[in-house]
Amino acid sequence: MQQLILPVLLTSFWTACTGAGDWCYQTQFTCDHQCNTPEKWNHANNACAGKSQSPINVVTRKALKDERLTPFQFTNYQQIFKGTIKNNGHSVQVGVPHVSTISGGGLPTTYKAVQFHLHWGTNGGPGSEHTIDGEQYPMELHIVHMKQDYTDLTTALSDPEGVAVLGFFYERSNSGNRKYEPIINALQKIKATNANTSFSEVSLTQLIPSEQNLTSFYRYKGSLTTPGCTEAVIWTLFENPIPLSMEQLKAFSDLKFHDGKPMVGTFRPVQPLNGRQVFRSGSALILASSALLAAAMAAALGLSQPN
Ligand SMILES: [Zn+2]
Repeated sequence: MQQLILPVLLTSFWTACTGAGDWCYQTQFTCDHQCNTPEKWNHANNACAGKSQSPINVVTRKALKDERLTPFQFTNYQQIFKGTIKNNGHSVQVGVPHVSTISGGGLPTTYKAVQFHLHWGTNGGPGSEHTIDGEQYPMELHIVHMKQDYTDLTTALSDPEGVAVLGFFYERSNSGNRKYEPIINALQKIKATNANTSFSEVSLTQLIPSEQNLTSFYRYKGSLTTPGCTEAVIWTLFENPIPLSMEQLKAFSDLKFHDGKPMVGTFRPVQPLNGRQVFRSGSALILASSALLAAAMAAALGLSQPN
């Protein structure tokens, strides 16, 4: 009998002290709310202690150029839809009708868009999940896709290549990005956790850089960046950031966690590579070098002119 009682007592004690299964970001931890911060996410799900976790820091000089990483084909990305945007207690998330697809880009098959959400810092400060050569951008967009044949994410996550996430960084700009107005305006209506609202028409195309600016990207295999941390994600990180004004970036910090505290710092710290290789698309960095070459040639031609 005693042998039975002890584990039960221990289990309930552990649950009361750590809030097992309840995960949070570092910014949410207080003495009154001792939730599982990122270094304890393995208490919420064992997979979070895996060897192929996301996000990572990309060291650009170690990224291997891969000619198979050709430009993406975006299909129905320009399709306008009326979306529902929700404060889910960890982020803002928008469900996307399963009609927009991506292929090419070195992906093994066609993937369809399911949802997108964002990760951000405090009042426009550093907040991206992935970092490039140690630089953390103010915000990061994740457009989550699953293999075309699947009907739900849970099934897709049981396939080691079932999910493809497109990651985009944001940069501070001096003027507001008008294409983001529907989303920024909707934030004011979903400050409370579990609040949702529908917003006026948007398309995925309007949220990301133009297609010709999406040929430079990084690729690696990783995981979801929130528990369950499932290692089933083909990651793409685009080099070209999306511009937003400081005011627009700050608007995300108006959202609230379930306890009413500001929803800020919604990013997981970078995880060890554990020997994984990061690849870069064939055209990554070439644009810059060909521009330099053109400038050098123009200068040379200028010098050789008689006057
Ligand atoms: Zn994410």
